[in-house]
Amino acid sequence: MSSGSAWLSMLQQDSEEGAEALLNDAVLRLLVEQTGDALVLVDSKGKVLTFNSEASRQFRLARPERIEHGWLPGCVWVRADDTSRPLEESPLARALAGEWLKEGRWGLRRPDGSVVLLRGSVIPLGVRDGVAAGALLRTREEARVGMDAASAARLLAEAGALLGAALDAEGRVEPLLRLLVPALADAGVLYLGPPAEALRPVAAVHAEPDRHVLLLELLRQYSADALVPGSLPSMLDTGQTERRRLGEPDGAASGNGHLEAERLRRALELQCYLGVPLVARGRVIGALLLFRGHEAPDFTEEEERLAEELARRTALSVDSARLLREAREAVRLRDEFLGIASHELKTPLTPLHLKVQLLHKQVELLAARGQPIAAERVSETLEVVQRQVRRLTSLVDNLLDVSRITAGRLKLELEEMDLASVAAEIMYRFAPSAAQLNCSLELHAPMAVVGRWDRLRLEQVVTNLLSNALKYGAGQPVYVRVEAEGRLARLSVKDGGIGISAQDLPRIFERFERAVSDRHYGGLGLGLYITRQIVEAFGGTVSATSEPGKGSTFVLELPRGDIPEEWLSIPGTS
Ligand code: ADP
Repeated sequence: MSSGSAWLSMLQQDSEEGAEALLNDAVLRLLVEQTGDALVLVDSKGKVLTFNSEASRQFRLARPERIEHGWLPGCVWVRADDTSRPLEESPLARALAGEWLKEGRWGLRRPDGSVVLLRGSVIPLGVRDGVAAGALLRTREEARVGMDAASAARLLAEAGALLGAALDAEGRVEPLLRLLVPALADAGVLYLGPPAEALRPVAAVHAEPDRHVLLLELLRQYSADALVPGSLPSMLDTGQTERRRLGEPDGAASGNGHLEAERLRRALELQCYLGVPLVARGRVIGALLLFRGHEAPDFTEEEERLAEELARRTALSVDSARLLREAREAVRLRDEFLGIASHELKTPLTPLHLKVQLLHKQVELLAARGQPIAAERVSETLEVVQRQVRRLTSLVDNLLDVSRITAGRLKLELEEMDLASVAAEIMYRFAPSAAQLNCSLELHAPMAVVGRWDRLRLEQVVTNLLSNALKYGAGQPVYVRVEAEGRLARLSVKDGGIGISAQDLPRIFERFERAVSDRHYGGLGLGLYITRQIVEAFGGTVSATSEPGKGSTFVLELPRGDIPEEWLSIPGTS
């Protein structure tokens, strides 16, 4: 290569590198201008290296040559109560002293006297021996200091649109909180029941990503009340809004176990608190908690009213969605029940129909031949007919009982009777079917247990428990015990059958509730419901204990009513 061409190529390389440097510089400038944040870079001597146009706009200040001791010329850094901060508290001064402030909030009185609330961070650069060679300040103007009427109306309209948009209200609470944070508060948490006593947080938002994580952690790890101890129970109690400044977390009161909760609360720096209960149909069904952090102004009375209006609308929407869900569930249960009921009612009808048809044919045949019909054959058929009619009657009676209970028309006719004799009589009635099912029946009733009850209803209760014990008892013995404890009568029915799982136990006394598949066991899921209603009408209780595969025990406890003292211990004859 000639020396001329080598020189040319060097020149070309130089200009390429120069162009690249120029380009990098332009890109950097563009980025600095376009970030949307104010950016100020100063060196340790106060020389301004960067001061973008957003900084000029936010601070109402043309780019200064120097920023002495981190103090923006003509501006004063102020606290939430508008008092001036000392020199060393200015963000840039703190960063030049080596401190890194991640998400701070500062008030700034500008040269024209107006005050702006800024949120941002300052980063010390090139720190050596606790002193920085420079500092970078980044700030963004806070959207509000108090909400004006137009923004409040806009917020309510947006919330209304959100709440009315879909029927699943609980799925909409997080977007709702995002309307409030950061417009009205730095953080918000929405709690919902039911039941109200067990409020749980369903959505939580913090405007700052780092603190959002802390907030979620605090809510996940600690009780619902951990955020503002004592506030939720008091709101549930009084249904009143709470608006106050939060004090320092009280270490002594919260105890060692809650040190971590306290650490998280401290890190969240929540200072102003507005707690509004969600009330629907006179009941507290949830709570909306709003917070403002460090250096923020207190919530105002107007903001409290706005939050209350939002809480009212949210409560209404959540409650309506819940009612709708419950109504749908009730319709689903009713349809399911109608399916089961028609199947149950039809089951005895089929053999009934067949037997009557057969008898009819036989009578016709014998009549045609001029022969008399055998009495045993008629009586055998009538027995089947009677059994099925009894079954149908009991099903229809159950249905009628449910409608009576629902309408509050369950009437009791009280008379004196011995529970042990009632149990013995029912067991006697069940003896044939127990024998058929291979279940032995055993009664333990050493004393007569006299009380005042309604005979038919008491028989119905014992019948229900005993028939269940045989139905779900799978050929195992059934033990019935009757005893008294002062003015309380107790009857227990114990079987060794299929049992009931712990999660099914609480619901089997509810209407239409069953814990078995209807392919294996017939039934309407009404027996225990009716039992409980009757027992409660007597002023007593019925409960069950069970272990799947090991059997169940149902215990009735009935007050013996107004009986003479001497009847409390009559020896039995069982
Ligand atoms: P049904 O027997 O018609 O279903 P009940 O109201 O009498 O209705 O009982 C409700 C449910 O409780 C039953 O479906 C069954 O799952 C469960 N259950 C009741 N008694 C027993 C028992 N002794 N052993 C096991 N499960 C039982």
